[in-house]
Amino acid sequence: MIKVKKRRVLLLPGDGIGPEVIAEVKKVINWFNDKKSLDFEIDEDLVGGISFDKHGTPLTDEVFYKALESAVIMLGAVGGPKWDGVEFSKKPERALLKLRKELKLFANLRPAICFEQLVNASTLKPEIVSGLDILIVRELTGGVYFGEPRGIKPIENGERKGVNTHTYTSSEIIRVARVAFDLAKKRSNRVISCEKSNVMEAGQLWKEEVQSLHDKDYKEVELSHMLADNCAMQLVRNPKQFDVILTDNLFGDMLSDEASMLTGSLGLLPSASLGAKNKDGEMRAMYEPIHGSAPDIAGKGVANPIASILSFAMALRYSLDLDKEAEALEKAVQEALNDGLRTKDIMSDKMKEVSTSQMGDAIISKLQ
Ligand code: NAD
Repeated sequence: MIKVKKRRVLLLPGDGIGPEVIAEVKKVINWFNDKKSLDFEIDEDLVGGISFDKHGTPLTDEVFYKALESAVIMLGAVGGPKWDGVEFSKKPERALLKLRKELKLFANLRPAICFEQLVNASTLKPEIVSGLDILIVRELTGGVYFGEPRGIKPIENGERKGVNTHTYTSSEIIRVARVAFDLAKKRSNRVISCEKSNVMEAGQLWKEEVQSLHDKDYKEVELSHMLADNCAMQLVRNPKQFDVILTDNLFGDMLSDEASMLTGSLGLLPSASLGAKNKDGEMRAMYEPIHGSAPDIAGKGVANPIASILSFAMALRYSLDLDKEAEALEKAVQEALNDGLRTKDIMSDKMKEVSTSQMGDAIISKLQ
């Protein structure tokens, strides 16, 4: 069994804007090393399309083993049109799915917080999003993205059939529900669990298992159930009714992208993907912005690095037990926004437009 090295941070910038935003995270980590003597050991390697171009695979065994022994993996983003024609098993996104699956990162935490300074950046009315603070807990290693059988096969009449299978076991549901209930206890103590129990058996099992775990161990948390399509609608109608949303892999993917727009930009939302703690209290975890490689803006120096920097704040909190440092970093982001600094995606009247690296530098100067 490969042991996790406590202070090892593996940077996997990936493709498109990934290297641009992870460069800003690296500056932040170096700042903590220089000014707070936190002794993070930084390593950096290739993942995704750039790895495919160099090694013929989106994730080499060497990088996978580095990931296994790192307490924190900071991923930028993978993919882009350059690799559209690549065989499915070698596509950049497969690297991400392999890391999540093999490291057993089953709980994906996606906070959607609307910063007061950015209420006008949302496409929704300010009164709908002001004060918004939602945490989406998405199951990450099961469901339709991983279920078997899967594939595309020829059938009669010269037609082809695409198959994906949506499956969940009780234990897969219970372990992620436990994460959601535990986190809710530190927040407003409310969980809304989303599935499609009206039309899917796996959704019915999801609902039953979440309810019985609640009745057994988490009676003090307020639990309600909502159909995922209704949740999508409620998120734009009245998002502040939510505290913790617990949901599966597919619905979580969509609902969290929808929630991101409540906050103004995909470039603002961090995420954490956590595994289980072993008996020594060690946990594997990967942190990444929820956005993709944004090929339309890659290389222009305009990408918003805040989602990635806030992902590192989550790493400080969940993997490194450095809550105070996490808070300081989150506060530094707020202060840079208070100064009116905006990357292009969140730019508005009377604000000052800054580049990716200027935003990173401003956040670091607020840390000082
Ligand atoms: P995307 O998130 O890359 O971009 C969607 C839109 O948001 C684009 O207009 C982009 O410019 C903008 N955007 C995203 N991040 C931004 C940032 N930090 N600052 C400013 N603007 C930002 O989604 P897409 O265009 O659907 O996907 C592009 C590629 O990324 C695809 O190959 C997709 O498979 C991949 N992808 C990867 C991940 C990941 O690595 N975790 C996630 C989603 C998509």
